Amino acid sequence: MDKPEILYMVVPCYNEQEVLHETAEQLKNKYNALMAEGLISKESRIVFVNDGSSDQTWGIIRELHETEPQLFSGIDLAHNSGHQNAVLAGLMTVKDICDMCITMDADLQDDVDTIDEMVKKYYEGNQVVYGVRSARDTDSFFKKSTAEGFYKFMKLMGADVVYNHADFRLMSKRVLQELSGFREVNLFLRGMVPLIGFKNCKVYYERHERAAGESKYPLRKMLSFAINGITSFSTKPLKLITTLGFVMSVASILAFIWAFIAKIGGFTEHGWSSTICSIWLIGGLQLFCLGIIGEYIGKIYAEVKQRPRYIVAEFLSDANEKNKEI
Ligand code: UDP
Ligand code: MG
Repeated sequence: MDKPEILYMVVPCYNEQEVLHETAEQLKNKYNALMAEGLISKESRIVFVNDGSSDQTWGIIRELHETEPQLFSGIDLAHNSGHQNAVLAGLMTVKDICDMCITMDADLQDDVDTIDEMVKKYYEGNQVVYGVRSARDTDSFFKKSTAEGFYKFMKLMGADVVYNHADFRLMSKRVLQELSGFREVNLFLRGMVPLIGFKNCKVYYERHERAAGESKYPLRKMLSFAINGITSFSTKPLKLITTLGFVMSVASILAFIWAFIAKIGGFTEHGWSSTICSIWLIGGLQLFCLGIIGEYIGKIYAEVKQRPRYIVAEFLSDANEKNKEI
């Protein structure tokens, strides 16, 4: 390292008014320490992305920027676009003004002290540094088992994700440039980043409990996130349908032979239960398979429309010659 490089933090925020001051304080202390050590440049910034919050979040971000424009920046999205899109909006906004960028949740569940290690790994030549949680002690049994089940199921379905890594990661400018080439509307960053490649490594951290406020990921959102992850990165479910169809066809041929023999043998009257069961089974299976195919068609529909994944209403930054109003 000849001279310290520019680190941008991208922090998505959706209704985070309870925790934002604390997050800003902790990140500020971390930045000051890193700058004092000469690990990051003075031009480094912390960017809060307001994802269409309905509370005071944007007001707080604006205030932070006004009091310390040389440290805090803010991006205001035109409407709530979801966590993944908010992160991408931040990354794409800063990709040309930073050397490296770390994405982190606003609720302080990701460990601020891991940032040092990530930055050091970057200087060792890693283009991507994945933050991997070492324990899940702070999670409820339910969250822990569903989350771990999710990673295992993703692997089984053929999507390459880093086990127990969410969206706490460092990426170099080069990786951000490559990421901008991924045009998909259905975003699943933790599947996309490993596809980019380059030298990478993992750092381990203990995930804390949310510092304040409540989770914006209820079970419903977690499930749809998991389904999105699988269908965006794997066509295995479609192949499974083909296999299932094949197995069912073999089974029906066998059933046909059995029915034929039964007919010849003259004991056909007690066929009612098997008939009704097969009708229900096949009907259910067909609907289920159609549903899976429908998932993919729905995604293709969203992809061909190529709608913008997020809309930036305002970018508060002193790094720009003038603040951009888009
Ligand atoms: N978030 C967001 N948009 C949303 C939902 C969440 O930007 O529509 C942000 C949220 O403010 C937080 C991060 O995404 O910084 C992770 O959300 P949360 O902590 O609620 O999820 P959990 O950690 O409970 O899975
Ligand atoms: Mg959280």
